[in-house]
Amino acid sequence: MKYHIITFGCQMNISDAERVSAILESMKYKKTPNVNEADLIVITMCSVRQSAVDRVHGLVQKIKKLKAKSPNLKTILTGCILKKDKKIFTMPTGRQVKDFDYVIDIRDIKKLPKILAWSNSHDRRELTTLKSPNDYLNITPKYSSKFYANVPIMTGCNNFCAYCVVPYTREREISRPAEKIISEIKSLIKNGYKEIWLLGQNVNSYKDPSTSFGAAQDKGSGQAINFPTLLKMVNDIQGNFWIRFTSSHPKDFNDEVINALAIGGKITPYLNLPVQAGDDKVLKDMNRHYTSKDYKNKIKKLRKKIPGIAISTDIIVGFPGETKKQFKNTVELFREVKFDMAYINKYSARDGTAASKLKDNISIFEKKRREKVLTEILKQTALEKNKKLVGKKAIVLINENRGKNYFGKNEHYKTIKIKSDKNILGKLVKVKITEAQPFILSGSILPARSEAEDKT
Ligand code: SF4
Repeated sequence: MKYHIITFGCQMNISDAERVSAILESMKYKKTPNVNEADLIVITMCSVRQSAVDRVHGLVQKIKKLKAKSPNLKTILTGCILKKDKKIFTMPTGRQVKDFDYVIDIRDIKKLPKILAWSNSHDRRELTTLKSPNDYLNITPKYSSKFYANVPIMTGCNNFCAYCVVPYTREREISRPAEKIISEIKSLIKNGYKEIWLLGQNVNSYKDPSTSFGAAQDKGSGQAINFPTLLKMVNDIQGNFWIRFTSSHPKDFNDEVINALAIGGKITPYLNLPVQAGDDKVLKDMNRHYTSKDYKNKIKKLRKKIPGIAISTDIIVGFPGETKKQFKNTVELFREVKFDMAYINKYSARDGTAASKLKDNISIFEKKRREKVLTEILKQTALEKNKKLVGKKAIVLINENRGKNYFGKNEHYKTIKIKSDKNILGKLVKVKITEAQPFILSGSILPARSEAEDKT
């Protein structure tokens, strides 16, 4: 039996898909990249933007054609799904053909063997009552890479930012026991992994649920393990690897987290801190619980403690009611903070969120204009920073190749292009930066002689 898996969205969804693969492969299913030869198609869906949901609707048409050819083909939809979409995708369409055979809560994937054994619609009704606890995070994933791994430390969110569906699709925050996280990472490092991503919707609010483990490991203080403590524990694991994490919420990004990052070691000097807007009224409407001044102060502290740290952000342009004057405050924040990278999104309403009740009154034309304004500033600040790296040395973890062109990330999470005749995929290589563009650097591998010189 073969399965084909299609994954949309963020690193958490990729990590979830790796768990689905692990369960299916334990059932002797084999993964196929060819959808036409699959006996089972699994889609791990993302609901953060309507465009991702629309892509699943697009796939439904293709799946229907495949089902017409192979009536035994089974289809499963899981991942981040809104209640409303769950209903839509399980409703009979056309000639009583359902869009998907099963629409499963991601927390129920442990029950896949049972679900796949069901053969009639009566059994399907049980799906509404499955809901197992979040121990699905402790399923050992079938990692899609041999050198970097996503390790969820928590899932869900309690913050209810006005535009975001995550608290509705993934529900409330649940942290994973530190003991399980550390044991997974130790095993990855033993197997040669070089980059560990600690994942969560809001990693800064991580709290080890297992208090006895917390008391035992937290140097006898008896306090539960929080995110800074967890970072230190991961940093203490023996081995040559990098630690990265995502996502952080500025309101929870406090001095304790900054001090933990400043330890350095395996914790890389890169941070994604989503600001979303630079205007206090818009931030309040977004339910973000910090001001533009708070954000800038945190960045100042961070840069003082970790000079040269690379910072990226997420921004939403055209939030309902965002005036031109309010947008100007975001522009000013952008100019002042000088980000290394920014992920700029045009606002689009998501069903069920607080913002969806507000009038989406900024035209698409104006949203595009605002996106362009910020992109231009970003290009300048990123180029300015990248130019300073030319002539400097960097360690790069190579994660992609196209022929003899290899691509990787340095500790500051900058993309670096390198030419090599040898296969260097998955290797940490030492390079000299030769050229800078806003979003990519070029480098050449330093000869072994230079490496030896560097060590002395
Ligand atoms: S912190 Fe806000 S944006 Fe992030 S997942 Fe939670 S609700 Fe969504």
